[in-house]
Amino acid sequence: MSSGTGAAAIPIQRSPWDSDPAELERIRQDFPILQRQVHGKPLVYLDNAATTQKPQSVIDAISRYYSLDNANVHRGVHYLSQAATEAYDTVRQKTGRFLNARFPSEVIFTRGTTDGINLVAQSYGRRLVPGDEILITEMEHHSNIIPWQLVAQQTGAVLRAAPMTDSGEIDLKEFEQLLGKQTRFVSLVHLSNALGTVNPVKEMIGLAHERGIPVLIDGAQSVPHLGVDVQDLDCDFLVFSGHKLYGPTGVGVLYGKESLLEKMPPYQGGGGMIDTVSIERSTWAPVPQKFEAGTPMIAEVIGLGAALDYVHALGLPSIAAWEHQLLTYATQELQQIPGLTLVGSASERASVLSFVLEGIHPHDVGTVLDQAGIAIRAGHHCAQPTMQHFRVSGTARASFGLYNTMLEVDELAAAVRGVAEMFI
Ligand code: PLP
Repeated sequence: MSSGTGAAAIPIQRSPWDSDPAELERIRQDFPILQRQVHGKPLVYLDNAATTQKPQSVIDAISRYYSLDNANVHRGVHYLSQAATEAYDTVRQKTGRFLNARFPSEVIFTRGTTDGINLVAQSYGRRLVPGDEILITEMEHHSNIIPWQLVAQQTGAVLRAAPMTDSGEIDLKEFEQLLGKQTRFVSLVHLSNALGTVNPVKEMIGLAHERGIPVLIDGAQSVPHLGVDVQDLDCDFLVFSGHKLYGPTGVGVLYGKESLLEKMPPYQGGGGMIDTVSIERSTWAPVPQKFEAGTPMIAEVIGLGAALDYVHALGLPSIAAWEHQLLTYATQELQQIPGLTLVGSASERASVLSFVLEGIHPHDVGTVLDQAGIAIRAGHHCAQPTMQHFRVSGTARASFGLYNTMLEVDELAAAVRGVAEMFI
């Protein structure tokens, strides 16, 4: 990977389970769901970009919290409340270290990537005035398009999108040209869930910062598959979801530079986010509490902490290296299938393989593979503008996680070849 991807903080190396298949088998045992069958066949789970499976340690952490420690945080003097508060705050520190944030207070717990982007759009975005511009790209997930459309409608700002090339890479010249005098905010996907493209976000952030424009990075896919160092990237905001990082659903993270978060108004009002309240007016708690109104998702945050421990123990460099090998092998195997076209052939890709089979609807591919126990995704992947660029209604998408095997890639290739032969 080049230094422009932001993945450079994690040098690609060989993963320990590359040379030791027994190690991969041991890792797979950590994930109870991988032992089950689907339609009488062993599950081959290749839908990791949608959500990842959970190791037993994450399931146990959530169960232990509800069995032994359940209490509300931040409001109690009793033992359980203090224990829950400590467990919750410990995950904030852990997440800060995971992202290499300067301060734990730069970590705000959200419901997920979508929630984090909406928070920034509705809080930071409130300062926008008619004629201001927000710049995204053509390859964004809907969750990095719609919140900006909403804020544009509310403020009179204009939403622009940097185009991509036919290989699925952002045209950097066009991107730079679109950074105009009116551009007030840039929001970019790091790793495209529809194409697998790894964008040179560090370079793009640099271009925006030369013009004084803050940048949000959608790290929904890059945080679990590449790892991210927010200080190295120098992004102003970064969002990700716990459930794509082997953690629970319903929890995610917004990282924001302290200097920006402090100046932003709250997103939602309620308990926990205030300093003083009267009927006439209120004052706000410091960050991060200012952005965490109401009872948070305590069990999910604790589950996220267990997921971070799990990923940390294996090492993101090892995970990224293994997924890179799976992707390289799968690309090589699928490309040989008659009538198959890969959608997205960027020089830097990770974990995601999108393809179409000539004359066959992606849903048919997904349905036939499902009968063989192979879970892939078919459709527009919440990236309709990306599909429009490639003039397809959808693609079939295999996406890899740390527990996938080369044998599973063989099974995928054999099943896709079977579909091609069945319909042609
Ligand atoms: N951004 C990207 C690149 C994604 O892949 C996804 C989910 O697939 C999202 C945003 C939205 O994530 P969530 O639904 O967890 O909020």
